[in-house]
Amino acid sequence: MASKFIICILIIIFLIPGSRVLSQSDTDLPVYIVRSGDTINIIAIRFDVSPQDIIDTNQIENPDLLTIGTPLKIPGLDGVRGTLITETANLGASLSGISRKYQLDPEMLIKLNRLTSPSQIFVGSTIILPFNEDNPQLYPSTPIASGQSPLEYAFVTNTNPWVAAIINQKSTPSKMIPGENIFSPVDDQNISQFGSAYIKSISILPLPLKQGKTEIITVNTNGQVELSGSLNGYPLSFFATGEGEYVAIQGVHAMAQPGLATLAIQGRVSGEDYFSFEQAILLEPGYYPRDPVLYVDPTTLLPEFTQPEEDLIRTITSSPTPEKFWSSLFRHPVDEPICVRSWFGSRRSYNDGPFNYFHSGIDYGVCANLNIYAPAPGRVVYIGDLTVRGLSTIIDHGWGIFSGFWHQANTMVQVGDFVQTGQIIGEIGGTGRSTGPHLHWEIWANGVQVEPLDWITKPHP
Ligand SMILES: [Zn+2]
Repeated sequence: MASKFIICILIIIFLIPGSRVLSQSDTDLPVYIVRSGDTINIIAIRFDVSPQDIIDTNQIENPDLLTIGTPLKIPGLDGVRGTLITETANLGASLSGISRKYQLDPEMLIKLNRLTSPSQIFVGSTIILPFNEDNPQLYPSTPIASGQSPLEYAFVTNTNPWVAAIINQKSTPSKMIPGENIFSPVDDQNISQFGSAYIKSISILPLPLKQGKTEIITVNTNGQVELSGSLNGYPLSFFATGEGEYVAIQGVHAMAQPGLATLAIQGRVSGEDYFSFEQAILLEPGYYPRDPVLYVDPTTLLPEFTQPEEDLIRTITSSPTPEKFWSSLFRHPVDEPICVRSWFGSRRSYNDGPFNYFHSGIDYGVCANLNIYAPAPGRVVYIGDLTVRGLSTIIDHGWGIFSGFWHQANTMVQVGDFVQTGQIIGEIGGTGRSTGPHLHWEIWANGVQVEPLDWITKPHP
């Protein structure tokens, strides 16, 4: 009897890991499911515990080999039970909204997420949520239909996709989370009761915002709503696509201050009723490299030369046409082989000054022939000889999207012409402030220059 007792004590002693005393028994510890991109260090930082504690608690033999979908016990989170899920905050996210929706204690959420203020929850931020049998709505009784993806299931049952994945015993809802940013007015406190009666959903993609990227804002309404708004201070231009859907395409400035940006949307119904919605969204740096210092005639840097051109181009590219002329991907405006001399966004210094300029387009060297092609259909709205940009053309692609072509040798179109994709509009030259023959091509998205490559590689609505 006594020996059995001693063996029991010994087993208990060996079960207590290391020298640290856990305040929760191991079986009660919250569990985190390893996601793609996770390392022990990332997980440790996320939950504010030491990597060694995670390794010890889970008896991990090789911390460099973490398999996606592995459940890991997370020590040191007093009072937290269940499966820890990280969710990217969507439009409408607020601490009170999340705690109400999932019936979670706000104090516990503040502690778990190490928040110092509820305003730290913004679109694009990662929120950790614990799920257990105390949140009955997170384990819905609706059985998953065969053939239904976890994401479809999540939508049908209004469930977090990660929970849906766990219910389905899938390690991850895979590629379905990024890009699916659905705002549900039912759970939101930021939108007035009045507004929620008219707005079905608001989405903004891609998230988080990034310097130089093109953002697509889609608003689905229950009828005809006159929409306006702004993103990071730039006024949005909405266009109706039918069935109550409105789309705005907006560039994020390549030198926009990283941090929190504001998406604001206002609506007017029948010219009288009015509602508004505001949401903070994470804006990330573009990590653009520095170009070698450029040496130019100093007089071409003077405001009396640069400002009138800037103002002229800004005026032309700030008047959106309500029609949309493109329907597929844009193409490079030159023939193959393509040789790029300078990419979009790179930081620039002129004549050893500070790097407070950025490259607003793509510079193509001459590696095939001199032809310049229209990258997408549109109307020629400007041709002119400018001091800095040389012989220049601007094409209006509709919906606030414009292409600019600088330093041309000559032009083969006229203002007012409608050009098709691949139509020759002129030849590459070295006119204006240029260090040699090249084509500078830039794209404006509602008054802001954006990464042109995105328009070649990704479809836009
Ligand atoms: Zn350039």
